[in-house]
Amino acid sequence: MTRIVIVGAGPAGINAAETLLAHGRQPILLDEGRQAGGQGYRKPSPGLRLDMNALMGSEASKYQALHERFESLRGQIDYRPGTLVWGIDGKTLHLQQDGRATTLDYDALVIATGAMDRIAPMPGWTLPGVFGLGGAQVALKDQGCFIGRRVAFLGSSPLLALAARQYRALGAEVVVIADTTPFVRKLAALPALLNSPRTLLRGLAYLGGAMRAGVPVLHGVTPLAVAGDGHVESLLIRDAKGRERRFACDAVALGYGLKPETQLAELAGAQLAYDEAFRLWLPQADADGRAGDGLYLAGDGMTIGGADAAEASGALAAHALLADLGIPSDAAAVAALRRRASRLRAFQRGLSQAFAWPVAQIRALPDDVTLCRCEKVSLGEIRQAMAQELGPTEVNRVKAMTRCGMGRCQGRICGPALQEIVAGVGNIAGAEAGRLRMQAPIKPVALAAAKAGAS
Ligand SMILES: Cc1cc2nc3c(=O)[nH]c(=O)nc-3n(C[C@H](O)[C@H](O)[C@H](O)COP(=O)(O)OP(=O)(O)OC[C@H]3O[C@@H](n4cnc5c(N)ncnc54)[C@H](O)[C@@H]3O)c2cc1C
Repeated sequence: MTRIVIVGAGPAGINAAETLLAHGRQPILLDEGRQAGGQGYRKPSPGLRLDMNALMGSEASKYQALHERFESLRGQIDYRPGTLVWGIDGKTLHLQQDGRATTLDYDALVIATGAMDRIAPMPGWTLPGVFGLGGAQVALKDQGCFIGRRVAFLGSSPLLALAARQYRALGAEVVVIADTTPFVRKLAALPALLNSPRTLLRGLAYLGGAMRAGVPVLHGVTPLAVAGDGHVESLLIRDAKGRERRFACDAVALGYGLKPETQLAELAGAQLAYDEAFRLWLPQADADGRAGDGLYLAGDGMTIGGADAAEASGALAAHALLADLGIPSDAAAVAALRRRASRLRAFQRGLSQAFAWPVAQIRALPDDVTLCRCEKVSLGEIRQAMAQELGPTEVNRVKAMTRCGMGRCQGRICGPALQEIVAGVGNIAGAEAGRLRMQAPIKPVALAAAKAGAS
């Protein structure tokens, strides 16, 4: 029997598992988290009583439905929570489960590893109290904690207004929602955003709710600094009219949209290509998620599409896998899933224009700003390395010379900004700057696990 492994128990992975099971296949479902649901539909830790209806708002019914479907599945599949996949060799996965190293061979692999925050550095972003926007949501949903009592939301992402609503719903004070993309760019993205009018209206409702509650909602801001003595005390920005404004706060949630977690796809042999709209390297797959021999991709880990697209693409990847095993599936259902995934992804492309990655802002950052937190490398060190005679103009060479991206996060946080700095200093296109090549372990693992994997 073909051994099918799915990595990621978010909406994409759960839908893939459900589809496979409906066609008589029992996959192994791995997730490093203790509970299924993924990022957006993350469940609170056991024993924590959080008002998930207040937290999830209009998404509460979808949250509920996914978890109910998962509960009816879990006894019928081989679900292994708390299992990190940290490397792939051929068709063998390297795992860390409860601190123990182990391996798992597969015949077919569905990678549904989701996404993470995309961060642009700024002066003061390494102060305690600055969190990734998604991290601020994880603290709230998973542990019932605010990142602070008075929180500033800064960056450019539809999740800014959403996370601010979640914080307000549970009693935190939101001091500002400051978006770096000018309002006119949001208007220009409207045609693409009309691919999902309901989601668009929901986003507008979040912003309207914040404004009615007296929260300043600003567009086209320039971040100047997070200031404080040992911890966050204020956020300084320049608004669209050129005025400097300071917001007293004790925490900042910082985020510029999401970036797919592509590491495992790359190790499993998927090709990556530069996407000019997202300014990210994305794994290549056909419309159903086929990315290589026995390799299927789904959800935000393939391309950012949101939770509904993740559900559709998870089912599509499973149908593709079944078709490759010679198991027929419902052609009309597959066609409907393709249309749905494609429409929702077009919407996300609109979002990438309405909430733009701030290229010019990153390139204008002063030399003393830290770019790589793990290895403490400043922007000035990158610029100096590149300015040398025959200095590097490609991110992996810059990494080798400066150690930027060589630490615990393996460039998952600093990588996108490094790419923009290298492209800017080298005066080359984003694609020419290259991408940090992935290598195992893709996330920090216990030494015992890494040693066992190497032997
Ligand atoms: C931090 C964060 C918060 C978000 N909050 C919201 C929100 O509130 N509302 C909203 O609409 N959207 C939110 N989004 C976006 C939304 O989560 C996604 O669109 C949707 O969840 C994508 O589903 P997915 O199945 O592709 O991935 P995910 O839901 O991200 O699931 C991926 C799963 O893969 C697992 N995984 C990843 N790597 C490994 C590995 N190496 N080994 C084992 N397991 C692994 C993860 O633990 C996770 O459970 C958020 C995204 C992020 C990153």
